[in-house]
Amino acid sequence: MKSAQSQVRNAAQLALLAAAIPPLYLSARFVQGQKRAEAVWEASRFPKLDDVGAVKRLSILPLIDWYAADPDYLEGEPGVSYLIRADDVTILFDLGLNRRGEHPSPLLRNMERLGVSFDDIDMIVISHAHLDHIGGMENAKEGLFTPSAGYVNLHQMPAYLPVPLVNPAATPIVIDGPAMLAPGVVSMGPIPRQLFFLGWTPEQTLAVHVEGKGVVLIIGCGHPTIQKIIARKEMLFDAPLYGVIGGLHYPVTGSRSVRYGIPAQQVFGTGLWPWQRITQADVHRAIAFLYRRDPKIVALSPHDSCDWSLAAFRTAFGERYRDILVGQEIVIA
Ligand SMILES: [Zn+2]
Ligand SMILES: [Zn+2]
Repeated sequence: MKSAQSQVRNAAQLALLAAAIPPLYLSARFVQGQKRAEAVWEASRFPKLDDVGAVKRLSILPLIDWYAADPDYLEGEPGVSYLIRADDVTILFDLGLNRRGEHPSPLLRNMERLGVSFDDIDMIVISHAHLDHIGGMENAKEGLFTPSAGYVNLHQMPAYLPVPLVNPAATPIVIDGPAMLAPGVVSMGPIPRQLFFLGWTPEQTLAVHVEGKGVVLIIGCGHPTIQKIIARKEMLFDAPLYGVIGGLHYPVTGSRSVRYGIPAQQVFGTGLWPWQRITQADVHRAIAFLYRRDPKIVALSPHDSCDWSLAAFRTAFGERYRDILVGQEIVIA
């Protein structure tokens, strides 16, 4: 018969083993996924897009992001939703966070205040399937994308997605490579990244070719890294880089969401091990990389970057830097 002492010891070993399995599983998945993402990246060879056309006027109106132009009137949250007008085509890029699961959501409330209606929108583009881009945690669990917690008539409009997601009021179309969505408007196709907790994350970036200027990139969270996003742009376009607008995930000195003491953006979505952090040096490297491409407009989304990083970009790009503020349109024409 086993002694009470050895039974306690066995129970303790079992408990240790049970506690070690999830981190071991996540670690193995992380290492495997990183290899897979690199293999997918290495195998991605796409021809130049010759005939996508160009738009004369492009505007980006942030409907959801962390800061609002008029915080008494418009709401901010750590998510993304931008209204993109490319000549006469109107695109809703991402659907915000709706962190309290409300109906109408902050996105719908801001749309109403800004006079934006789904009747005027031609298509939805979802950058990637994270909760701050598809309209909330409940959606992420259910594989849904939705602008609000209640029914919204999306007129069966096309929704271009990097992974299969559903919304009964829209027509989901999964994008698996570069594709022209409208004259001058291109999805550069998903680029995958393996994230430790959030897992396999393909993200697509929009590229809009503006006549006589160049290509403007509109980015959701920036998980693939700015280096790979720009490399994809250079694979697809001969036209110069004109603008970079959106999330690049540089939470260095703080996170926009802190839940149960966990700084969300600094721990989740970095592409690093959980104990590693994105550093000031990473940000300076990214700025230098971008600076060499000589973009004329740079606007960093505050939803997944800290104020230190925003200031670093602002300092580096000076007059070319634009703030991303809910309700403040960025116009390129
Ligand atoms: Zn995000
Ligand atoms: Zn994300």
